[in-house]
Amino acid sequence: MTKILILGAGYAGLRAAKVLAHKKLDATITLVDRNRYHYETTSLAPVAAGTQRGQSVVLPLPENLPAQINFINGTVTKIDRDHKQVALADGQSLKYDYLIVSLGLESEDYGIPGASKYALPIVDLKSALAVKKHLENQFENYATSQDPDDLRIIVCGAWFSSFEFMGALVDRLPKLAEHYNVPFDKIDVQCIEAKDMILPMFDDDLTNYVKQWLKDHKVTLRTGTPIKEVQANKVITADQTYTANTLVWTTGVRGSHVISDSGFEQRRNRVMVTDQLCMEDDSKVFLIGDVSAVRQPGKPYPFAATGQIAFQMAEAAVANIVADLTGQPRQDFVYNDLGTVLGLGHKSGVAKIFGNHKLRGYPASVMKRVIDDRSVLLQAGVKALVKYGRIPL
Ligand SMILES: Cc1cc2nc3c(=O)[nH]c(=O)nc-3n(C[C@H](O)[C@H](O)[C@H](O)COP(=O)(O)OP(=O)(O)OC[C@H]3O[C@@H](n4cnc5c(N)ncnc54)[C@H](O)[C@@H]3O)c2cc1C
Repeated sequence: MTKILILGAGYAGLRAAKVLAHKKLDATITLVDRNRYHYETTSLAPVAAGTQRGQSVVLPLPENLPAQINFINGTVTKIDRDHKQVALADGQSLKYDYLIVSLGLESEDYGIPGASKYALPIVDLKSALAVKKHLENQFENYATSQDPDDLRIIVCGAWFSSFEFMGALVDRLPKLAEHYNVPFDKIDVQCIEAKDMILPMFDDDLTNYVKQWLKDHKVTLRTGTPIKEVQANKVITADQTYTANTLVWTTGVRGSHVISDSGFEQRRNRVMVTDQLCMEDDSKVFLIGDVSAVRQPGKPYPFAATGQIAFQMAEAAVANIVADLTGQPRQDFVYNDLGTVLGLGHKSGVAKIFGNHKLRGYPASVMKRVIDDRSVLLQAGVKALVKYGRIPL
């Protein structure tokens, strides 16, 4: 039997496993993840702000997998392509005929001193819950410390998830202030970004909407302000030192370190794949989701790594494996970009969908929820949507 091994049960890996399971192949399908659950990465920002329960963004594994999938709870440390095997941290070694690498993302600190030591990232469920807890602790401390920095939050980087986090914070802060009995007018949220431009996927009209929305909710956005260093409760730029007891790091992401540890040719742990989503020199090793880079027709840079493309890549990689095993020709991957939706808390957002159709405010936030719920629906079905609280009954 052909051994198909999938590394990582995020958007890409879980989708690949589920689609493969229904193909009735003469193959064993093994899915490995370091957690006994799948988490919805696109919903982590509200979890970090505390407006969404962690439980509502996870699907326990292997309970939510079809019976055809053999699930291994383990941490991948190295991929050995010469011997077609993968090493796990507990010493196990897994052989494969076909490999799908979908180990996802890590926080990118761009080598800024102190960033990974003193600022909190939002990249997986544990880190999102750590941000939530840290924030609550500072607000609780304020009663005894009266330290204004306990009520200051600095979001480092104006990346996509930075806005989703600040949007959710705007919803949460009034409740947090009431709960811990702190003066709401003393809460200060700032976002510090190196570039002048924000959200390049949107036009000026939508980015201006976001800027105004932040202003209206007393969030300060400082663009064109590169961070030089991060120290304990301090963010240092060329001109100034900003202090806050909550520093959140959302400047962007890179692929899993397992990619560079395994000797792949890569840039920021993303491997340039062929149009069939495999390696140039190894057609049985596929890389999908955030560990891969896919050529964008007519552009010098690859497609941005998103949940949407991760999903589509999973389906295309599986189709090519199935083609091999059934004697059919492989197909090139064609990305169908359905648009981008940015949620700003529960009641606002911006979106560019179906070409150039724009949404602002509440309709965009509804669209964001529809997309997130569709993803859970595809990964786990209606029962999961209800069970994990996505559809409150
Ligand atoms: C906070 C945040 C918000 C985002 N919001 C959006 C959004 O609104 N829309 C959008 O399209 N994109 C968004 N993105 C990007 C999107 O989430 C990613 O592009 C997408 O998650 C990539 O899917 P993936 O399956 O490649 O990786 P991931 O979702 O990161 O999944 C990787 C999986 O691999 C597992 N894993 C990792 N390392 C190991 C290891 N060594 N051993 C075993 N298992 C391992 C992890 O546990 C995880 O299950 C956001 C990203 C972040 C961080």
